[in-house]
Amino acid sequence: MTKFEIRGLRADVLIGEDERQEILTGVDLTVNSNETHAIMGPNGSGKSTLAYAIAGHPRYEITEGEVLIDGENIVEMSVDERARAGVFLAMQYPVEVPGVSMSNFLRSSVTAVRGEAPKLRQFSKELQGAMKNLSIDSGFAARGVNEGFSGGEKKRHEILQLELLKPRIAVLDETDSGLDVDALKVVSEGINRAKETHEMGTMLITHYTRILNYVKPDYVHVFANGRIAESGGPDLADTLESEGYERFVKAGA
Ligand code: ADP
Ligand code: MG
Ligand code: MG
Repeated sequence: MTKFEIRGLRADVLIGEDERQEILTGVDLTVNSNETHAIMGPNGSGKSTLAYAIAGHPRYEITEGEVLIDGENIVEMSVDERARAGVFLAMQYPVEVPGVSMSNFLRSSVTAVRGEAPKLRQFSKELQGAMKNLSIDSGFAARGVNEGFSGGEKKRHEILQLELLKPRIAVLDETDSGLDVDALKVVSEGINRAKETHEMGTMLITHYTRILNYVKPDYVHVFANGRIAESGGPDLADTLESEGYERFVKAGA
């Protein structure tokens, strides 16, 4: 059982040398393992900033508040330490790392999180199993990281990492964007399988309600103006689907 708590979190985006802008204006959220929280909201409301701040991205500086895993504050931790503490962030736009094969990249990620390198043969077996689960072609392991991957392949790769790294908290930022229905199903099944096979709390950041038909949220939060403006059950997603975010955007900063 893991408790992930965000308390009074404020963060700035660092724009230039002496330019910064406050984006997160006091975020409070508690995610327990086995819970799925959908974070929804208009473009530019700060959803990705929240994900980056949790992950420790250098462009975003936490100015106030804390992020706790079982009472331990991760705010002062390095990116690697956060990963070891069990936090997983799937990037909205995964970067390309040419020259490094998928299998090498994944094995080093697993090594960083587990603290020791898995035996090669055992890791290959694990990787092939996880790839099979996600209907990923076996040739994928030899390809360069994200090199020339389609949008759908990048997303599958994110979920492949999820299967291998078994995080305690997964922050999935628009994992659903740009996927056709078949890819969306495969990706959603991967998220659901990760939730079943190991205890995982999930923050599912999304602009659209479509993925919530496949990954059922326990809670839905509306993110607006850098904080959670409203929280509810799964029904809130239906309200947002029909009414949009206008009400929250109009509310102003
Ligand atoms: P969302 O994910 O909800 O669409 P973001 O967190 O991406 O929102 O952006 C929130 C606000 O922060 C936007 O106004 C955006 O322009 C600004 N912002 C985010 N990252 C940067 C950056 N690297 N440089 C300048 N502005 C940024
Ligand atoms: Mg955006
Ligand atoms: Mg975003």
